Amino acid sequence: MELLIKDLDKKYSNGVHALDNVSLTIPKGMFGLLGPNGAGKSSLMRTIATLQDADSGSITLGDIDVLNDKQAVRKILGYLPQEFGVYPRTTAVDLLDNLALLKGFENKADRKQMIEQLLVKVNLWEHRKNAVSSYSGGMRQRFGIAQCLIGSPKLVIVDEPTAGLDPGERNRFYNILSEIGENTIVILSTHIVQDVRELCTQMAVVDKGRVLFAGNTDDALLEV
Ligand code: ADP
Ligand code: ADP
Repeated sequence: MELLIKDLDKKYSNGVHALDNVSLTIPKGMFGLLGPNGAGKSSLMRTIATLQDADSGSITLGDIDVLNDKQAVRKILGYLPQEFGVYPRTTAVDLLDNLALLKGFENKADRKQMIEQLLVKVNLWEHRKNAVSSYSGGMRQRFGIAQCLIGSPKLVIVDEPTAGLDPGERNRFYNILSEIGENTIVILSTHIVQDVRELCTQMAVVDKGRVLFAGNTDDALLEV
């Protein structure tokens, strides 16, 4: 399955041209979306995640028409927004259980098994009975990934996920993400060149709403 973005255009009501005729082909694996603040990365991520509309253009994911069949996309999407900011005083297990129920997993035993697997994957199993509000920044982001992965998404979008994390936490986060990228489309939006170089085989550079480069990371970012 591939994500195909074609001639996507978006102007906000304040006149900012956030997406200027964006076309991209995003294959399975880790895909880096690199650009400075204000480049249009979040606008693109939010549009793919069906959270905002474009003015024109199309997005297809396999045989799903993303802009016109939002329900179908939401079933196979994991999205970790920038400043994922709700840290309730609920335990990790209870929170994931509620989210899984909302996603339609009605069998309690199935949910229990899925949540255990997710919390082990993100190394939070031993903290499962702590409130998410008590987690450190790195733990919260790993929890965010567990939340993203409920229902085995085909497409995972993470927007500037390592802002404020120390190097150790950042590496732990990226190791988990790389593992997910082995059989999923993972789009990593970031302004940090080093992250894309280390993690992503394919990438695009965007600025002022335009795609300046799209292709192999090795062709774009020479070893320094
Ligand atoms: P649209 O053109 O899609 O209707 P709006 O201009 O109405 O978008 O803004 C939508 C929301 O985004 C509003 O809540 C607004 O406050 C917020 N917003 C406005 N300008 C910015 C900006 N520069 N960056 C981020 N959010 C903004
Ligand atoms: P990035 O994620 O690369 O920082 P954004 O997509 O957030 O870029 O923003 C692209 C441009 O659109 C910026 O100039 C930003 O101020 C503007 N912008 C973002 N959201 C809104 C909004 N809702 N309303 C108006 N302008 C916006």
